Amino acid sequence: MRQSRQWCHRDTRRDPIGNSRPASPAATLQRGKGGHVTIANTMASYWMPFTPNRQFRAAPRTLVSADGMYYRSDDGRAILDAVAGLWCCNAGHNDPRIVEAIRAQAGVLDFAPSFQISHPAAFELSQRLIDLAPPGFGQVFYTNSGSESVDTALKMALAYHRARGEGARTRFIGRERAYHGVGFGGISVGGIVGNRKMFGTMLGGVDHLRHTHDPARNAFSRGQPAYGAELAEDLERMVALHDASTIAAVIVEPVAGAGGVLVPPLGYLERLRAICDAHGLLLIFDEVITGFGRLGTPFAAQYFNVVPDMIAVAKGITSGCVPMGAVLTRTMIHETIADAAAAGTVEFAHGYTYSGHPLACAAAMATLDAYAEDRLFDRVAALAPVWEAALHRLKSAPHVIDIRNLGLLGAIELESRPGLPGARAFELYKLCYEQGLLVRATGDMIVLSPPFIIEEGQIDMIVDIIGRNLKAVD
Ligand code: PLP
Repeated sequence: MRQSRQWCHRDTRRDPIGNSRPASPAATLQRGKGGHVTIANTMASYWMPFTPNRQFRAAPRTLVSADGMYYRSDDGRAILDAVAGLWCCNAGHNDPRIVEAIRAQAGVLDFAPSFQISHPAAFELSQRLIDLAPPGFGQVFYTNSGSESVDTALKMALAYHRARGEGARTRFIGRERAYHGVGFGGISVGGIVGNRKMFGTMLGGVDHLRHTHDPARNAFSRGQPAYGAELAEDLERMVALHDASTIAAVIVEPVAGAGGVLVPPLGYLERLRAICDAHGLLLIFDEVITGFGRLGTPFAAQYFNVVPDMIAVAKGITSGCVPMGAVLTRTMIHETIADAAAAGTVEFAHGYTYSGHPLACAAAMATLDAYAEDRLFDRVAALAPVWEAALHRLKSAPHVIDIRNLGLLGAIELESRPGLPGARAFELYKLCYEQGLLVRATGDMIVLSPPFIIEEGQIDMIVDIIGRNLKAVD
């Protein structure tokens, strides 16, 4: 694909190694004699999330600046970003339009409380988000993260049924291998064992659908796998077991991300929707990864043409620049909850100090502008076949047992070393980083979700570096 000015006003091929942007002032302040950032003496006090902290301190990786498709590491190397930071920097790094919007907002209104008072950008952004959402959606509730969005959506589901006089509907149905963040609600409906086992009983009354990963029938599927729509029938079994009158909602990621980019089988999501409708269950899509263009449409709901009742978002809403999340709801959910409250009382006793923070709203609006101006969602749709073809070139590389893709999402699954799950993928991750490529290892899978400004040549680089290192790891 040729570089299109319409799509991308910035030249993302520009080599950020070429000093296009200085390291951050903070990093500069800490520069040691050799010019490298010296952080060793500050490392022990930072308890890093989802990190083997002691192992990390022995061989730290530190990023000090970013631009377009690249990070720069503390030792001055350009690192091609194949994961949009952490599935979030969809517009690429340090887009000047977004940076400027945040800067400008910070000088005008640093903070506004969100309980019983607000500010113009919060209203404007909510309407712009609704304009992107499927028909029937009418309200936006702001949060600060995906975890908060998930917990908010679960609480809305409970409040909705209670307002309808069906307060016994308190159960949630999640799915194995799902990641819904780290709040107690999110880990309860989530299905990643490692994230749950330390934390006891969590929310009561939760049950889980089987995951949809079926390598025996679907390995190396391109896009949606052909087999597995019948797994949605698990929901009928749960209704039979628990009775619909006890179930509030079903929550799924349309494409499971952190669980390994598990693409829904053809017909699966449609069937879930139909079963929810038949039994009065709400359907929540966790679109923290798939929202904001990852599949080439604003939301996965439009890609799959399956409309949920609530959509939980975060990450791409601000292209990762300022923490923000939101729950988008169908009007009928808001109306039902509001109608049940006595006049003048708080309808939904929930919210965060930083809900609709002015800097986050400014970042989100500039991000939506960038997506629209550069037609980045269309760019994802156009690049998706290129991405798919490139990833599947690794089919016969050593250790590879499955490759999955949809939109600009991808996963390369490796055979595990006997007794050492995850070790091979983590070694590959480290080799890639040393060679200037940031990927993400989860279990024995390499998951990929590049910024939408990626060029075809950079897709080839990603595949070439991974392919080379698959040969290098044992
Ligand atoms: N839901 C999904 C699908 C996610 O992928 C994530 C994070 O990766 C979350 C929720 C949690 O988001 P956060 O880390 O912003 O709390």
